[in-house]
Amino acid sequence: MDIQGEKGPKIGCGIFGAINYEDQPVFPYVYWGLRAENHRGHQSHGFLTFNNNQFYTYKNLDLVPKVKTSAIDEWFGRLPGSIGIGNVRYTTSGKCDDQSIVEGTQPTTASLNGFRIAVSFNGNIVNTLPLKKEMFENFPAAIYNCDSDIVCHKMLLALKRTGDLTTAAKEVMESLDGAFSVIGITGDGTFFAFKDPHGIKPLCAGHDPNSKTFAFSSETVSFDMNSFVRDFELNPGELVTVSKEGFKRIQVIEKPREAFCAFEYAYFARPDSIFNGRYVYEIREEFGRNIVREFPEIAKDGDIILSVPETGDDSAMGVHEASGLRWERASRRHRYVTERAFILLNAERYSTIDKKINILGNKVAGKRIIITEDSIVRGDTTKVIIDKLRKAGATKVYVFVTFPRIIGPCFYGIDMSSYGQLIGSRHSTEEIAKIIGADGVCYQSIENLIKATGKTENDLCLACITGKYITPCAQKMADAMKKRFLEGYEEKGRIYENEEIQP
Ligand code: SF4
Repeated sequence: MDIQGEKGPKIGCGIFGAINYEDQPVFPYVYWGLRAENHRGHQSHGFLTFNNNQFYTYKNLDLVPKVKTSAIDEWFGRLPGSIGIGNVRYTTSGKCDDQSIVEGTQPTTASLNGFRIAVSFNGNIVNTLPLKKEMFENFPAAIYNCDSDIVCHKMLLALKRTGDLTTAAKEVMESLDGAFSVIGITGDGTFFAFKDPHGIKPLCAGHDPNSKTFAFSSETVSFDMNSFVRDFELNPGELVTVSKEGFKRIQVIEKPREAFCAFEYAYFARPDSIFNGRYVYEIREEFGRNIVREFPEIAKDGDIILSVPETGDDSAMGVHEASGLRWERASRRHRYVTERAFILLNAERYSTIDKKINILGNKVAGKRIIITEDSIVRGDTTKVIIDKLRKAGATKVYVFVTFPRIIGPCFYGIDMSSYGQLIGSRHSTEEIAKIIGADGVCYQSIENLIKATGKTENDLCLACITGKYITPCAQKMADAMKKRFLEGYEEKGRIYENEEIQP
């Protein structure tokens, strides 16, 4: 979902951190936690541990690597300590050379007059300009690689000034516009986590069965991989610290307005993660049932259901249940081409989709196909698949899309940063069908999406499908961008840093 010509990195991440109270190394927990979250970012990964008042870091490109048994001692030596945090990340625009990606890899550290802090962050900051100015005024030698640098330096400044973690977290929460779920370690070994006042990005807490290790994670699946007990999701505007006795929860922002990213349900999160007490896969199944209820005539015009790519599998089950149509495994995925199309660079995208999905011609020839898709962003993935189906002899192809038509950019950490890249911002549903070569495109309605999540309109961020942004800076920026887009301006540059656009 990159826009060519954008400058500067923009990130999406998975975060995990753990602390052990028996002096055991936490690296294995952080390692497996991050591996379980590699779908949230595959371009680079980073680990940081705290031991004897020192931070130890390891950062590299690509997926979290396999650790050979013979290399375990080396890894323990590299990342000693019983407190650790980690991050998987994708950078989707601007500087995508290897060095820039590694430099922008988290966790991030900052220090000032003996005060130190390390953070791992998931989200995106909207009002970066004043915050960067403040950062460079106080840290002239600082380098801005990603928004995590802003969060880290801001937190350190607030901590140094107030001497109190809760007050510092409150100051950060009140001065940043955007989405931020943060896990951190202070120079005195305090392990903490907090969520922005809207709770846009996921963050949850868990512990090992012996209650000796406590952890924070973007998704619950990382607790499952570590055989941990799932405890709770952090509330918006909540700070959580950890001691031997367990978690201490502090509601820093009173009466926050929750706005959890609705796209996590449709696409981003793993189906075996739990939000709001329910598995994501269950919600996706309901999405599928909803579309059949909304478009019964189209469902009747299909012979088989096909789910491509994998994130459409769970909704395909729902479509199957509600329509009675056979769900055919008529496409097979290359096992070792694991990149997600969403987070690939432009040039890579086309060829990788083409190489990782193969169609079983004898299953689709002469058939009317219903494809289940999680979303249509640019439309190029779906177009390639429909083209393959047509070539294989499909007579009709309908697309059932669980996430409603995306009409506006996301400023909160999902890489949809301009109107121009969104097929849904410029075209009606009928036009989209024509462009991607489908006989029909059926989007789940916003109302049904909300209902299926078990939340209400007031608990979710739906900005990219409604145009109503949660935070004031984002709304102003969206309005300014839309005006320029409609007037024919070329959308260039990282929008959060574009002085003409940023309020
Ligand atoms: S704008 Fe869309 S993708 Fe971004 S946080 Fe909101 S719902 Fe999620």
